[in-house]
Order: sequence, then C-alpha cells, then structure tokens
Amino acid sequence: MSTYNFFEQVNKNFDKAAKYTRFDKGVLNQIKKCNTVYHVSFPLRRDDGSVEVIEGWRVEHSHHKMPTKGGIRYSHKVDEDETMALAALMSYKCAIVDVPFGGAKGGVKISTRSYSVSELERITRRYTFELVKKGFIGPGVDVPAPDYGTGAREMGWILDTYRQMKDDLNAEACVTGKPIQQGGIRGRTEATGRGVYFGIREACSVKKDMDALGLSTGVEGKTFVVQGLGNVGYHASKYMTEAGAKMVGVSELEGAIYDPNGMDLQALMDYRKETGSIIGFGNSKELPSNKDIFTQECDIIIPAALESQITGDNANGVKAKIIAEAANGPTTADAHEMLKDRGALIIPDSYLNAGGVVVSYFEWLKDIQHVRYGRMNKRFDEESLMRIVKELESINGKSYSEETLKKLTHGAEEADLVDSGLEETMITAYQQITEIRSEHKLDDLRTAAFINAINKIGTMYEQMGIFP
Ligand code: NAD
Repeated sequence: MSTYNFFEQVNKNFDKAAKYTRFDKGVLNQIKKCNTVYHVSFPLRRDDGSVEVIEGWRVEHSHHKMPTKGGIRYSHKVDEDETMALAALMSYKCAIVDVPFGGAKGGVKISTRSYSVSELERITRRYTFELVKKGFIGPGVDVPAPDYGTGAREMGWILDTYRQMKDDLNAEACVTGKPIQQGGIRGRTEATGRGVYFGIREACSVKKDMDALGLSTGVEGKTFVVQGLGNVGYHASKYMTEAGAKMVGVSELEGAIYDPNGMDLQALMDYRKETGSIIGFGNSKELPSNKDIFTQECDIIIPAALESQITGDNANGVKAKIIAEAANGPTTADAHEMLKDRGALIIPDSYLNAGGVVVSYFEWLKDIQHVRYGRMNKRFDEESLMRIVKELESINGKSYSEETLKKLTHGAEEADLVDSGLEETMITAYQQITEIRSEHKLDDLRTAAFINAINKIGTMYEQMGIFP
C-alpha cells in the first residue's frame, strides 16, 4: 500500500516528468506549489434548528494564467491535501488541452446524502459568500464548476449568490456547468464522459499500441467495466456502448455486478432508480465487494468515482489491458508502476477527463461574449449552403430529397459546435502526448502528459519574466 498522500502522488508524477524538461529547480518548484490555499469554516442551521460547523476549501494552484478554474467537490472525504492535489491536476490538465486557465479546486466536507436540499442550498450559498468575501471567485479571478457531489443545481445557486453580492456585467461567467437558462451551455453535462470516450477512441486507434496489447484497433467489440455511474461514469459508458463496446461490469456504492454477456446501460439505470441498487440486475452476478470490479475479465477499466481506487493491493489482479482514468487520481503511483510493468496502457486522468474543463471554457467564453454559439451565423450558413446546393441541382439536373437537403444545408448550432470543439481538442491533445512519448522514448502516457504540461506552464513563467 502506498504511503504517499494524494498531493505527493501528483508531485511524484510531476518529478518523474520534470527530468525530461529544460527548467531549473526554481521554476519547477514554482510550478508545483499551490499559490493560495483558503480554508473556511462556517455555521449551518439545520432543518431541525441545531447548528453544525461546515468546513470548506478553495485552492488556487497556479496563477500563470487567469482566471483559475476547477470544480467544487462535496464529499465527507474532502480535506486540504485532496483539494491541493486536485487543484494541481487542474493546472496540468488545462495546459495539456490548451485551455487558458490556471488550476484551482474547491471542496466542502459533507456527505450530500445526509442533508436536505434546502440545507445543501444554504451550505452552497454560504460557501459562495465566503469565496466572494475573500476574492476567490469571479469571471477573471477564479471560476468554479461541478465535481463529485455537485451539479448544475449547485452552480445555479453559486451564480445567484455571486450576483446578489457583485454588480458585475460578466457575472454569468463566474461559474460554469450552470443550467442553460442561467448562461450554461449545451453539452456541458455530458462533456467529461464524452471527452473520456473521445480519448479512449483515440488510444484504441493507434495500431502500434493495440498490437502491443494484443488487441484490435477501434472501440467496437471491446469489453469494459466502470466504477461509478454518476455524471462521468454514466456518460462515458453511454458513448462507449453507442460506439459498439460491451459493458460487462459496474460498481456503485451498494456493490458491484458482472455479466460477461454485457448489460444494457439504460435498463440498468432504470432498474437502479426503481430498486435503489444495481444488485440483482438482469443475469449479472454480484461480486464480493465493489472494488472487485477492477479484477474482472475485460479489455478496458473505467474508474469514474474517486481517487486511490487501484492501489498496490489490487493492481496485480487487474486483467484489463487499458486503464482509462475518468476519475481524478484513481491509480496510485505504485499501482501505476505495477500495471505498466504488466504492459497495460494507462490513459491518464490529466488528459482523459479534461472534457469538462474544455466545455467549461466554451461556456465561459459564451458568457463573456453574451451571445449563444451559432446565433449569429447558423441561418446565414444555411442560406449560403442552400444556394450552393440549388446551383448544383441545376447543373446536374437532379433534385435532392427534403431529408438530404436538410442534412446538406444544416447550419451549426451550439451543441454541434461544442461537440466538434471538444472532439478536436481531445484528438489534438492525444497526438501531442503520443509525440512526446515517442520523442523521449517513454513507455507511459502519464509522464508524457506531464512533460507537455510542464513545458507549457514553464514557458509561460519564463515569458512573464518572473525568473529573469
Ligand atoms: P458524481 O458524484 O456524479 O458520480 C460519482 C459516482 O461514483 C456516484 O454515483 C457514486 O455513488 C459513485 N461512487 C462513489 N464511491 C464509490 C465507490 N467506492 N465504488 C463505486 N462507486 C462509487 O461525480 P462525477 O462528477 O461523475 O465525478 C467522478 C470523478 O470524475 C471524480 O474523480 C471527479 O473529480 C472526476 N471529474 C469530474 C468532472 C465533471 O465534470 N463532473 C470533470 C473531471 C473529473
């Protein structure tokens, strides 16, 4: 079992990659440090009238680009170390996918199941109040987003609280992952899972890597298991199964199930909604514990719950050839080495789950521009395309059907542009990482991804003249 805490794990990966960069120790230390750490405690009046003290954090890891950006996590496991680690990962993640933000993360130490909706609203609003008071939120300062235990509802409360306290024309850009009506963007909810799918698809398209693993190229026909059927796990599984992959195992809080013949995701979601559990679904068998999901027969493991799930204790039992890190930090440093020694391909979190921040960036841009994507050009593009098609029809002397005409002249809407931008970003970032892996003759993508991030952030610091 690893003796490192989460932030040390992240730094260990950083140090491994730093050896391949040209920066001196001072620059590297500056990149690694968390620039600001804010710890707050505040009272909550519970529905029964009693008072409880709530603890929260906001960590801004790197100010090399502003604003800083990172989700807010609600979990009873939240602490300062975890928030620092996740903030650092955000800096590297943003650099890897060329999103012009520094990294940040927030956390509130609560188990959401223990509070009513109105208590959660009071906690969220008070936490936001504390962030505003200390200058830890704002469109050009620090922009939160959803993470484990939070979603669009909480982001909407955050915006409303910020707006009540600040007379800011760009208020809607103070937080992303909001409901559409409050300046959110189409495609944000599914963005992280969608990005996970694009990343796995890219990895599976590299013939040399698949040959080395003894697998065919492509997602179609591959089997996978997923840990966590929340936002990221559900959407990643949805796009994987739509692309022809077979979901053979699922792990959730109540336990884990496995069926080598595959399971229907939507039917499983409905079953869980109805019964409150995944156990007993279809022809699946129940596994002894929810962590046993990682040692089942399959091609791909998608951990999509929390950090430190694949550890020195269970890594040796992993049979899958591909570990797709949808969650942040699911594989400990020692487990990473064990998996790598066995020839597995680990698609690192810092790249793979970046889809959320990529689309958050698009949402932030939309909010500071105060205009929906596609609004200015959709109709114009459609009319131009129609003129071209009509010209072609008259040249060729044939008419297209209504359906074909519709397809040929479709002007891009917000959802189309977001999806296309996300796909482009995930493909380009994967190519950059694999090029660095070849250049340095590395055998792992995590180190290559970190080198990419360090090079970009280090160059920024140099250009800013902080280290003359
Ligand atoms: P979520 O709260 O929507 O879902 C997490 C799911 O995991 C829940 O269904 C929960 O019941 C389940 N779970 C918790 N502990 C488990 C365990 N021990 N075994 C099995 N299942 C367990 O959270 P999310 O937003 O999907 O985030 C999941 C991970 O993805 C986190 O590591 C988060 O930091 C990361 N991530 C999320 C986003 C995003 O946009 N939401 C972006 C990047 C990274």
